[in-house]
Amino acid sequence: MKIILLGPPGAGKGTQAQRIASVVDVNKASSGDLFRENITAGSELGILAKSYMDRGVLVPDDVTIKLIMGWIQSPEQASGFVLDGFPRTLNQAESLDRELNRSGSLDRVLYINVNEEELVERLSGRFICANCQSPFHVKYSAPTRNGVCDFCGGSLYQRSDDKPEVVRTRLGVYFEETAPLVEYYRKSNILREINGEGDIEVIGESLLKALS
Ligand code: AMP
Repeated sequence: MKIILLGPPGAGKGTQAQRIASVVDVNKASSGDLFRENITAGSELGILAKSYMDRGVLVPDDVTIKLIMGWIQSPEQASGFVLDGFPRTLNQAESLDRELNRSGSLDRVLYINVNEEELVERLSGRFICANCQSPFHVKYSAPTRNGVCDFCGGSLYQRSDDKPEVVRTRLGVYFEETAPLVEYYRKSNILREINGEGDIEVIGESLLKALS
């Protein structure tokens, strides 16, 4: 199955992508995680991406499309995949369609919808594991030990783009550049809209149901 998770930053795409990928037994890629790995490695791509990410704006399409297409084209993704955070522009969505025309089109676009005030609260209270990227939240999903990942023992940090002023920019970018993709995918009848507010487990079940 080829699945996309669509939704604003803070909607819970990362958490749910992980879960869906393990149930469906395919790999998942998060464009944001791929950029952050490049930043940690100090690569040229990482240095370029960081200059956009720190401001909360999108990394240019040509760079992002090349990165994700490289991942999709690898043989491990032949049986399907879950994408989190890509596509984010119409241009990216069209490039993905062109690529998949060769290998079989998308099966589902799962659109997770959350109201804006809640997104700000979620993002500004979020902490990420530096090792396995699992997200935690000071209020909603606090780790058992302060600052330590429950899953791998890695240390937790706050992303620099989760600071309140950058969060507002990221949400603005989402509504302007990414939200139009909801209509783009609705037309092809593969879009399913899920309410992303409430219990994580319940949302996860709704997403799995929407796959069948
Ligand atoms: P995320 O981890 O998905 O919230 O992404 C963090 C940041 O990475 C975004 O604010 C963008 O700067 C960049 N980014 C991630 N995915 C994309 C994409 N598909 N297109 C352009 N920039 C992206």
